[in-house]
Amino acid sequence: MGIAKFIYELGERLRNPSLRSHYAFLKKSEHWSVSDLEAYQLSKLKELISHCIDTVPYYQNIFIQSGISESSIETLDDLKKIPVLSKNQLLENVSQIHSTKSYPKEFLASTSGTTGDSLKFQREESADSFNRASIMRGYSWYGVKPWDRNGYFWGFNFDWKARLKTKLLDALQNRFRLFSYSPENLKDFSKKLRSATYVHGYSSMIYQTAKLIEERSLEPPKNLKMVKGTSEKIYDSYRDVVKRVFGVPIISEYGATESGIIAFECPHGNMHVNMEGVIVECVDHRILVTNLQLFKFPIIRYELGDYIELATKNETCSCGMKHQILKEVTGRIGETIRGFKSEYPSLYFYYIFKNLASKHDVKLTYYVEQREVGKLDFFIEEKLASSHQNLLKKEISKYFLKDIDYTINRGKKSSKNGKSKSFKSYL
Ligand SMILES: [Zn+2]
Repeated sequence: MGIAKFIYELGERLRNPSLRSHYAFLKKSEHWSVSDLEAYQLSKLKELISHCIDTVPYYQNIFIQSGISESSIETLDDLKKIPVLSKNQLLENVSQIHSTKSYPKEFLASTSGTTGDSLKFQREESADSFNRASIMRGYSWYGVKPWDRNGYFWGFNFDWKARLKTKLLDALQNRFRLFSYSPENLKDFSKKLRSATYVHGYSSMIYQTAKLIEERSLEPPKNLKMVKGTSEKIYDSYRDVVKRVFGVPIISEYGATESGIIAFECPHGNMHVNMEGVIVECVDHRILVTNLQLFKFPIIRYELGDYIELATKNETCSCGMKHQILKEVTGRIGETIRGFKSEYPSLYFYYIFKNLASKHDVKLTYYVEQREVGKLDFFIEEKLASSHQNLLKKEISKYFLKDIDYTINRGKKSSKNGKSKSFKSYL
């Protein structure tokens, strides 16, 4: 597809002139040793700190309060001297966190917070390009070029005008998307999939589509090199059907607008931290992320709101890359389960279902709701044999003892914008 590449490269040159050099750098640094990577991180961190001291009002104050100067940061460990930045602090200080330095080219970035706490900030061209280059590097591990034909899974709910605009923009990116699961739409989409090189988007939609292609006996795609799930948890129960229908495993990309790409799964099945772009810390199972490339809106030790598990430093990947391994993104923080007597983190659901999968090979797609104190409603998408139901009950009581009453129901949750969550509390 010569034309797709041409359009892509034209757009890149106009919008992201520094992307090429960032990409070349990342393809070199992917062969670096841990000490090379950490030396690079330290030098970027020092650069970021002195930039904050010079031009970022929020950090000028924070650093004075906590007695931090440029000489305070001599090792990566010294990062711990800087206080954690919570999501609320970030949202309350958006203008103060912006650097007073202006860059020749800045883009407005925004996040669509599910709870209405959306964030808008300026990002300089270099940071934007670095992030795109990081994604491109991940694609390169699968032999995928960003201009290759691709299917996209994102929210539905378009009126015809929005649909038309979306289709035009998609066409420029050699992309097509699924607009609904209706028989005609899905048929049309699966036909297009046969000429696609990769698909990406919400993992629950990728899973749903794979299942429907199978159920409706549609012809599956043959040439996919990569199936990439983003923004949502990839349940173990998704993996088999996706592999069967799409021919390749579903892999995950993890990141956020304000942090940039945090990790990308390699073809050997490990999520590697994008160490040239971010420093990831794990404190009390929570992720703290420092964006090493974003200078217009510096993010340091930012509590993104996920529970994670990092591999120990001596665990290595057979792909040869030395980048730190992120074992799991185990769940979102903040939603607490309320028992009659105690409170529990929603992380517990992750363990309950992980145990079922790893100990008993029972892989379930679940959704849990809490509408009353001390009571949970579990919804399981798969049909549960009574022996499996008993295993599930055992796991539940292991974590909550007698502090929670619960029901187990067959069913699933589909939310309006296409993005699904595994736990919702109405309390
Ligand atoms: Zn690897």
